Amino acid sequence: MSYLLQNGTAILHDVNERVRIIKTDILIDGNRISKIGEDITAPASATVIDCTDKIISPGFVDTHHHVWQTQLKGRHADQTPSGNLTAKLFTAEDVFWGQLGGCLEMINGGTTTVADYAHVNISPEHNYNAVSATAASGMRSVFGYCFNPRLSSTNPMTIDPNGFGGHAVPTFDELAKQSPWADGRVKLGLAWDGFVFAPKEYVDMLMAKVDEYKIDLIQTHISWKPGKPSWPQALERLGVLSSKFLMAHSNMTKVDADLYRKYDVHYSSTPSTEMQVALAFPVIAFRDDLGVKDLGSLGVDCHTTNAAYLPGEARIGLQSARGARAQVAETRGKVPLTVGFSVEEAFNLATIRGAHAMKMEYQIGSIAEGKLADLVTFDANSPAMVCAGVHDPVAAIVLHSSPADIDTVIVDGVIRKRDGKLMTVELDGSAKEVTGRSSLEWAHVATNLMRTRHRIQGEAEKLDYEDGQKKVMQAFGISESDLEDPE
Ligand SMILES: [Zn+2]
Repeated sequence: MSYLLQNGTAILHDVNERVRIIKTDILIDGNRISKIGEDITAPASATVIDCTDKIISPGFVDTHHHVWQTQLKGRHADQTPSGNLTAKLFTAEDVFWGQLGGCLEMINGGTTTVADYAHVNISPEHNYNAVSATAASGMRSVFGYCFNPRLSSTNPMTIDPNGFGGHAVPTFDELAKQSPWADGRVKLGLAWDGFVFAPKEYVDMLMAKVDEYKIDLIQTHISWKPGKPSWPQALERLGVLSSKFLMAHSNMTKVDADLYRKYDVHYSSTPSTEMQVALAFPVIAFRDDLGVKDLGSLGVDCHTTNAAYLPGEARIGLQSARGARAQVAETRGKVPLTVGFSVEEAFNLATIRGAHAMKMEYQIGSIAEGKLADLVTFDANSPAMVCAGVHDPVAAIVLHSSPADIDTVIVDGVIRKRDGKLMTVELDGSAKEVTGRSSLEWAHVATNLMRTRHRIQGEAEKLDYEDGQKKVMQAFGISESDLEDPE
């Protein structure tokens, strides 16, 4: 397919990755941007999309997200560590719907690429269904297969610390054989928090597989408390730290930051969950006192507790960083002269910096000839964006927009949202088997999310969450004496 986006206001990046706004046409040929320029003549095969009064943005790149969790939305609003371990309550079918719902929420909000941290290694089918739902949704994804500890029983909650038992390794091998999926749009990655705690033979075994399977993205969460233990320092001691790592969360010491710099390790700041779950104050990705500002990116983390809308996370991160900076001045009895950080920096974290974090900067993250066609158009004249959209399109997106302002989303050259509505999801192979259908409208997805949520909710009510939260913290090396409730 070929599309000509005509007469839009496009947000481009120059060679220094500074934003450049131009009035232009954009021609998409197959899954690539083939031409950018004024008055492009539409090829006979091209469908013309009028982009007058539209802002054309690169698709957003979400560098840390547990995509399967949709049926748990709302459950963890007032809690610290949210319910990743409750994957145990999900059947393989539940995971299909949760994953599809998660991907479609992201696409609706203009996210076109995600680093998925998939805590769904309950059975092989849980993983296969997650991959198949991702492929069906149209999302570009690195599916981070997960060896994390699992719940071995739910009541009382007991955690099996060894995520390598049973099907775990054979399923990883099988997925590696299958990867990539959907013409390369979805590919396998590794997601594991065990580097610091697990026996060395597991680390060696996994790293050998990473090499053998040519996996180029390894995701890991870092500790709640900086330095207790320090993930980057432990990874260096193990001799495995490399630019393949993508660290979830922005809490770090200067020593950690120096290691990120030395090994070109990128990190994902997830402002909403970092502040809710006390992981970090998401300011590192803005200010440069640790010298790793350019290694930062943004993630949604848990759409159980916040919207899967990356410009929203950019906004929260930006304003938190401005607030923290103002507080520094205030402690000296001063008032800040400027706001310090720009909407452009926030926008770049959600786009081109995310592409760098995923080692995909030559393919995605900005609008350029030859790059993959992952594009989002916003209605510059919407009630939320009007005037701002003309004055400063980047400010309009970062500070004023919501998913309701997004008119069109294109991923890999395929339209996934048009005229403000998600397109029909076409299904084949195993997705067809799971759902018994060959296509799905959003209403079908919502009905099935509600149906499966009802059953999961019944099971979840039997859980002792307070006990579970303590066990999750223990799994990350946090003891009771580390905890307190501040004013
Ligand atoms: Zn996470």
